[in-house]
Amino acid sequence: MTAHYDYLVIGGGSGGLATAQRAAEYGARVAVIESQRLGGTCVNVGCVPKKLMWTAGSLAHAMEDAAGYGFQVPHPTHDFGALKRARDAYVLKLNGIYESNLSKKDIDWIKGHARFVNSHTVMVADQQITASHIVIATGGHPAVPAIPGAHWGITSDGFFDLTHLPRRVAVVGSGYIAVELAGVLASLGSHVTLLVRKDRVLRYFDTMLSAGLAREMAASGIELVTGAVPLAIERAGDLHTLLVEDGRRFTELDSVLWAIGRYPMTEGLSLLSAGIEVSAQGFIHTDRFQNTTIPNVYAVGDVTGREALTPVAIAAGRRLADRLFGHQPDRALDYSLIPTVVFSHPPIGTIGLTEAEARSSFGDTVKVYVASFVPMYHALTERKARVEMKLVCQGADEVIVGLHMVGHAADEMLQGFAVAVKMGARKRDFDDTLAIHPTIAEEFVTMR
Ligand code: FAD
Ligand code: NDP
Repeated sequence: MTAHYDYLVIGGGSGGLATAQRAAEYGARVAVIESQRLGGTCVNVGCVPKKLMWTAGSLAHAMEDAAGYGFQVPHPTHDFGALKRARDAYVLKLNGIYESNLSKKDIDWIKGHARFVNSHTVMVADQQITASHIVIATGGHPAVPAIPGAHWGITSDGFFDLTHLPRRVAVVGSGYIAVELAGVLASLGSHVTLLVRKDRVLRYFDTMLSAGLAREMAASGIELVTGAVPLAIERAGDLHTLLVEDGRRFTELDSVLWAIGRYPMTEGLSLLSAGIEVSAQGFIHTDRFQNTTIPNVYAVGDVTGREALTPVAIAAGRRLADRLFGHQPDRALDYSLIPTVVFSHPPIGTIGLTEAEARSSFGDTVKVYVASFVPMYHALTERKARVEMKLVCQGADEVIVGLHMVGHAADEMLQGFAVAVKMGARKRDFDDTLAIHPTIAEEFVTMR
């Protein structure tokens, strides 16, 4: 027998669950097809367990800093296995909450792997399902380089399976995941070598952020190696050697972690059966309304190749449901000015144009304000992690087109400033806002 739905959602991750629930709130008959645990990458092997690990790393730094404030902290020991068990239990609890949220909204969960038969029909094992509208929200998976021995390495998925802290790790990559996981591992006590193939980490971010983070990573003991293009991994016993193209060898590694980007998860979906077009890298083409090249088939989230962030997938999914079932024909996500935080140690918060992007678009009409200082938090500590801040302003009105920060509390600071930037704040609006003293954030409204 064929089941029929108003809305069939393939993928029970951030985007899929958000669009399914919003559609159900409008009264649509909805099913979600998910082959793994509910919650997708973010909940199971992404934002959530990563943030818990980041917090553990931050606590390690705080314990180090506490001595400066008079605490006699004995050399702390850390039980990595206990942290993993507590983290896994929390994620399991979230999986259960997601499942009960679906049933509260009368959304069917069809467990299995979806495959298109045609643009209105999907198969899960031998079950045939048809729908008036189908949305693909299948996310992505980590890339592994095509080099000899690459399979000896792990990815971020494998990082979350670790039951022991590796003693010596090579992290390969230069993006979000590379710097985040390098920071966690180093703060918990691993010896970390971070290998980037070009000249810097976070190459697409403002140079102030890359340089500031690189300096603090070095201060915390991370060995940053540039110009290192991976060639092969060799294994002897339990240890690995990572070879790079210029002949350097990184030896006696317990673990090599690939963090070199993510591919769209479209394997086995039979997109061709539905006539859905993808890019050369396999990302599904979508327009601003999340339409694919086939009517009534849509895509949201990482699988589209747009900004791969949970709030982006959720917002795109909710707006799509508003448009299809909520009588809002023009509803679409504005992909400009997306705030983002890198949970490195220290964290980065950034929104808008880098200084270089602004100068190439607006030339001499760009004015930049910067601040660089050791925050008062470190007045009494042995560690002296600096903060770097930048406002990129444009035109006679000095509209703030970019706001960037690396340093303590950047993660919690950015959201509020992002509202102001999204509303078109000018430098003088910042100047007219009274400072909150003594904070790090006040520097953003006192820059000259
Ligand atoms: P996903 O959440 O990946 O969900 C896709 C789901 O589809 C999966 O559950 C998968 O099992 C399922 N699926 C795939 N194919 C099929 C099929 N054929 N049939 C049925 N089901 C299928 N973003 C942030 O905003 N903040 C962060 O701090 C952050 N940290 C991250 C840390 C890491 C280590 C990683 C890897 C990512 C992180 N991200 C973060 C990115 C974020 O996780 C993703 O952008 C987000 O999960 C994308 O949501 P999605 O719905 O597109 O896909
Ligand atoms: P990223 O795209 O952030 O970075 C990957 C980088 O690795 C590339 O930019 C490239 O940098 C380098 N690289 C690519 N191929 C190779 C290779 N063969 N060898 C060596 N280096 C290589 O990918 P991530 O995997 O870090 O993360 C994927 C996405 O997930 C992120 O873009 C982000 O959207 C999301 N995410 C968000 C987080 C957050 O919000 N805090 C946290 C984690 C992930 P270069 O060209 O400079 O060498």
